[in-house]
Amino acid sequence: TVSLSGVGKAFGPATILHDVSIEVAHGEFVALVGPSGSGKSTLLRMIAGLEEVTSGEIRIDGRVVNDVPAKARDVAMVFQNYALYPHMTVAQNLGFALRMRRLPRAEIGRRVGEVARSLNLEELLDRYPRQLSGGERQRVATGRAIVRQPQVFLFDEPLSNLDAALRVHVRAELRALHRKVGVASIYVTHDQVEAMTMADRIVVLRGGRIEQIGAPLDLYDRPASIFVATFIGSPA
Ligand code: ATP
Ligand code: MG
Repeated sequence: TVSLSGVGKAFGPATILHDVSIEVAHGEFVALVGPSGSGKSTLLRMIAGLEEVTSGEIRIDGRVVNDVPAKARDVAMVFQNYALYPHMTVAQNLGFALRMRRLPRAEIGRRVGEVARSLNLEELLDRYPRQLSGGERQRVATGRAIVRQPQVFLFDEPLSNLDAALRVHVRAELRALHRKVGVASIYVTHDQVEAMTMADRIVVLRGGRIEQIGAPLDLYDRPASIFVATFIGSPA
């Protein structure tokens, strides 16, 4: 479970997140939507420990992690530009975080094999990133994040570089994966359909504040504002 209470963020004089409180339970898949610049990526980066928290508290499984460094948090993040290591094979990319943690070789091999099986990457283990399609790279990036067996899974528009057909396919894969590993997932997307079809709940962020939180159909049927209605695409 990841919970934020009264979280705020300022860059110098500019406050870009105000009093954000959300709880995402183990097994829950939450979509985070909102206009460009509303603070979505910053919020994820604070949960991952890549950005300092200005006010409020972030807890992971009950423990306040505000001062816990990124490496020591049970959080994995998948970005839109994948950032695979170009000079490493798929297998080496998948095992990298485990090698850094000095896990025994046999254990690394076992976990990499398991992740490769669950993401259908077994045939690709000896290839380099440049020899992969966009969708395959996305799967490797996801695999690299889950191999550490995190408690919290953060996605920042992971599918925005994929074509429409592939997006539908990988969407289903990610959702199935989430179900299988049972983590708390927060998924940032610009795509309303993606949010509506994938999420247990949707958080709408606007200007650094939470505008509404609810199940997809709640937001659709009972938008709290015209802003939410327009964003979700409810009938007028
Ligand atoms: P997008 O949908 O375009 O990705 P976003 O919702 O992810 O947008 P953020 O990247 O979180 O938005 O940015 C929120 C605001 O914070 C923006 O106004 C941005 O310019 C500002 N911001 C982000 N990072 C920094 C930084 N390191 N220093 C100063 N301002 C920043
Ligand atoms: Mg962003």
